[in-house]
Parts: sequence; C-alpha cells; structure tokens
Amino acid sequence: MAAPASVNDGGILVFADNVELVGELLTAGFELAGGLQLPVTVAAIGGNAQSQLAEGLACGAGHVLVVNLTHDSEESIATGLCSAIRATNPAVVLVGATRMGAGIAARAGQMLQIPCVSNCIALELHSDGYLRVERRAYGGQFVSRQLLRSGPRLVTVPPRCFPQAMKVAGASGRITEISVTVPPPRLKIVSVSQRTRSPVDITKAEVIVGAGRGVQKIEDLQLLEQLARLLDGALAGSRPLTGDVDWLPMERRIGLSGQTVKPRLYIACGISGQIEHIVGMKGARTVVAINNDRNAPIHIAADYSVIGDLYQVVPALIQACERAKGKPDPAMSA
Ligand SMILES: Cc1cc2nc3c(=O)[nH]c(=O)nc-3n(C[C@H](O)[C@H](O)[C@H](O)COP(=O)(O)OP(=O)(O)OC[C@H]3O[C@@H](n4cnc5c(N)ncnc54)[C@H](O)[C@@H]3O)c2cc1C
Repeated sequence: MAAPASVNDGGILVFADNVELVGELLTAGFELAGGLQLPVTVAAIGGNAQSQLAEGLACGAGHVLVVNLTHDSEESIATGLCSAIRATNPAVVLVGATRMGAGIAARAGQMLQIPCVSNCIALELHSDGYLRVERRAYGGQFVSRQLLRSGPRLVTVPPRCFPQAMKVAGASGRITEISVTVPPPRLKIVSVSQRTRSPVDITKAEVIVGAGRGVQKIEDLQLLEQLARLLDGALAGSRPLTGDVDWLPMERRIGLSGQTVKPRLYIACGISGQIEHIVGMKGARTVVAINNDRNAPIHIAADYSVIGDLYQVVPALIQACERAKGKPDPAMSA
C-alpha cells in the first residue's frame, strides 16, 4: 500500500451555499483542525458571498476567502470553489450537503479529479494524513466507515450533524479576495417559478405528531392536528400520506425520501415503522408510538409504546392536554 499523504498545510476549507450551515461546518472544521492545529478558512462564493463572509467571521473563522465570480450559477460556484481549493491547498474541504451544495461538491471533485464523499456524519483527521469518515448506509441501518488517504478531499456534511459554532465577540479573521473569470454558463435559465411550500417547517419543530396509514380518512387528520397544536408542535406524515395520497404536502414527509427531523418529542400515530421512515426520525429525543399491532416495528424505536387504536388514544391524549392547559373538559362537565 502506498504511504499516506501528509496533512496539507492549508488546513480545512469550509463552504456552504446556505448561510445557516456555515456555523455548523465551522464546528466540524474546528474539531478536525484542533488536534493538528490547522487553519480553518471559509470560502465565500456566489450570490450569498457577503452573508457567508459575515457569518464566517462571526463564528470565529481565522480566514475568509472571498471568490468573486463573473457569473453566479451552480457550475460557476463549483469553478470558484476549485479556485479556492487551489489557493488554500486544504487537507479537507467541507461542503454543506444542501441540494445545491451536493452538486457543487460533485462538480468540483470531478473538475479537480479529487475524491468527493457525500453525507458524512462524523469525521476524524489523523496526523498521518488519513481522513476517517462515517456515512449511513442501507437506509441508515448501518454506518460505513471509510478512510481517505490523499488530500485535498471533498466531504459533504448534512444539516444538523454538528451544532452551530459559538459567535465570537470582536471577530478578527483575515479577509482575502480573488476574482475568477468563469466561462458563460452552458445552462440557460428560461424562467424561474416559486414552488408552493408548506408554511410549516417540520425540521425546526420541537414536537411532531406523525400520521401514518392507520389514519383512515383525510378528515381524521384534524384530530392529529389538534394534538399537535395543543403541544405547540407540527403535523407530519409517512410516505403513504404524503405521496400515495396527497393528504399532507411532500415537505411534511419524514424519512429517507423526506425530511430528517430531531424533535424533542415524536408521536407516531398509525405508523408501522419501516426503516425508510425510521431513518428520518431516529434523532428524536423521545418517541411515543401509538399502534394497534403489538408486533409493529415502530415499537422497537419507541421509548413509550401504546398498543391501541389511535381513534381512542389520540382523543384521550387531547383531553389530557386540555386538562393540563386548564381548558374545560366537556366530558367531565357533562
Ligand atoms: C425508496 C423508498 C423510499 C421511501 N421513503 C419513505 C419515507 O421517506 N418516509 C416514509 O414514511 N416511508 C418511506 N418509504 C415507504 C416505507 O417503506 C413504508 O411503506 C411506509 O413508511 C409505511 O407507511 P405507514 O407506516 O404509514 O403505513 P403502513 O406500513 O401501512 O402502517 C400502518 C400502521 O398503522 C397501524 N394501524 C392501522 N390502524 C390503526 C389504528 N386505528 N390505530 C393505531 N394503529 C393503526 C397498523 O398496525 C400499521 O402498523 C419509502 C420506500 C421506499 C422503497
């Protein structure tokens, strides 16, 4: 086996098109760099460059490299990222795994002919130059560990894997600028139209009530919505309710082909708990499963299991919540 490459002097380069992710990637970057005392640089590229610059400095980056582009598209941002990599010679490039970030990282990896590993949930950089990454495999049932030998290496990191970096008072990071002339985009955007989005963002909800195929009619969702409201939470669903039938919008789907959520409390109602669903909610702190089948796999993932009919259990929960909130209980006053 060839000898491992030594750690590149340029340290860690961080790029996220979504500004909210810059602080999370910096936490990952500081952890990686810490043991080896490597520098951490934020690349500020594209339409969000000024916000990325401000966030990078506020979160304590030692250096922000602003890459000015002649065009602003996924392709040109990837070209800009390549220039940032050439300019800083990093050991590891962390890219936020947004839809656009995933495309940018893949393009940059291809342009520079360097390795690109997607959706890494844990990272370790060793003094011998090896980067060890962990990624979920087979719908989250396994974690695969991979070693990457040569640097620079591109790694995409999904949102919410690392906490936000602490804001530092009186940020003193260095700012440098480069300008890159990118070829005119090969893709011509003819028109842009906004997709209608659900006003509720389940990824930010502290409490989620999940509806599954155990719910018999669309009208019955009101019951679950009522419970979610009482708990200051949001209503979400499994794939059958967010795709097979459009009872809930796609943005409310939890799972492999939907959203990954990390609420304090997740109440799964009439959800069997197939692995494609579990991967999206297993970060929940407390899981309550309401299912009339005691053998349903959701009970394995649950902290509390209620073996029963959701049409009896959910109204009882609603009554209990109303009582706790001091609202009149019609059943008691009748
Ligand atoms: C590539 C791929 C991607 C996928 N992505 C996702 C994804 O992102 N999210 C997702 O959720 N699924 C996803 N799926 C689908 C997944 O495999 C399951 O089919 C789906 O999660 C099942 O949804 P469910 O639990 O609501 O329905 P079911 O499996 O039909 O379960 C319904 C449950 O309700 C219970 N029940 C019935 N009546 C009652 C009642 N009155 N009271 C209490 N319990 C009751 C039943 O006992 C049963 O356990 C994906 C599948 C594939 C192949």
